[in-house]
Amino acid sequence: MNGFKPHLLSLPHYPYRKVEAPIKLDQNESAHDLPPHLKERALERLAALPWNRYPSLHAEEVREALARHTGWAPEGVVVSPGSNLLIQSLAQAATRVLDTAPTFPHYAISAKLAGTPYRAIPLQAGFRLPLAELLEAMSGEPGVFFLPNPHAPTGTLFPEAEIRALTERAGETGWLLVIDEAYQQFSGLDFRDLAQQHPHLALLRTFSKAWGLGGIRAGYLLASPTVAGVIQNLLPPFGLPAHTAAILLTVLEDSSYIQERVREVQAERERLYRALRQHPTWQVYPSHTNFLLVRTPDAAQAYRSLLERGILVRRQDHYPGLEGCVRISVGTPSENDRLLQAVFEIAGVGYA
Ligand SMILES: *Cc1c(COP(=O)(O)O)cnc(C)c1O
Repeated sequence: MNGFKPHLLSLPHYPYRKVEAPIKLDQNESAHDLPPHLKERALERLAALPWNRYPSLHAEEVREALARHTGWAPEGVVVSPGSNLLIQSLAQAATRVLDTAPTFPHYAISAKLAGTPYRAIPLQAGFRLPLAELLEAMSGEPGVFFLPNPHAPTGTLFPEAEIRALTERAGETGWLLVIDEAYQQFSGLDFRDLAQQHPHLALLRTFSKAWGLGGIRAGYLLASPTVAGVIQNLLPPFGLPAHTAAILLTVLEDSSYIQERVREVQAERERLYRALRQHPTWQVYPSHTNFLLVRTPDAAQAYRSLLERGILVRRQDHYPGLEGCVRISVGTPSENDRLLQAVFEIAGVGYA
């Protein structure tokens, strides 16, 4: 393949394989589809659209609606079909990418795609931030630092003081700190105020998790107008499909359904956490997301025996430092009951 850039010929496949199972707890999706009245409204909106016409150049209506929803200036909002595409654009614009490890795999993939120098610094024991090393790394030539907070795939929420220290360093040295807040709603913590004050801090958010719109593909960036302008120019024109925009405008008009769902996830997550703490051989980690990371004696075995009982989870044992780990999304209360029953049945102890 002589017409292609050599560094793109050996890209690894994205680490995901589709497996069918009655109880699907492998992708951190919302366990619930949109409330029926909102789905109905979105369909009506879709029917009224002229499908022969292009959508807006840069999803202007959605950006306005998101600006109202978040209290952000519209010039600092960028919307795209999935936050993954924003990650790719940020990595493309970056002179270098800084990351933690283990981490969300798309930062490294995007850096590689773009041919951007990449460095990952391992988390410390207990999944703590290697703050001194990160601050040191951010003293060098500026670049873009991707930090999921709450962190994926560990579920950790980093201390606010550490995020502030990283933000201040970014301001001093010209780095851009991108906090990927895919799981923000489940943590109850919000860095918008800090980001408003610091143009070197940008926030990345998605409709794929708490909003229950994983199938719709939409994410957004809250950044300074300068950063947003650069990233917007990297995205293709007319890039947000009219149908995606119609659905987003509908949920942004009436987003109250999210609160109750987030409360359910938080309550179920804590119930699962407490129950799994009783497991004789599994170690469950505290989580501020809609999933739990669990260390088992053998991830392949845990995965298989749950799948035999109709429950699909995600292996995470390919990450250095996550040997034996599987990740379990929080499901509906009855799915979670069945999960616990299966887990304790496999362990050979009853679950009351
Ligand atoms: C799920 C997730 C996303 C969402 O990506 P989309 O392309 O918006 O679906 C982004 N970052 C992290 C860390 C995630 O876990």
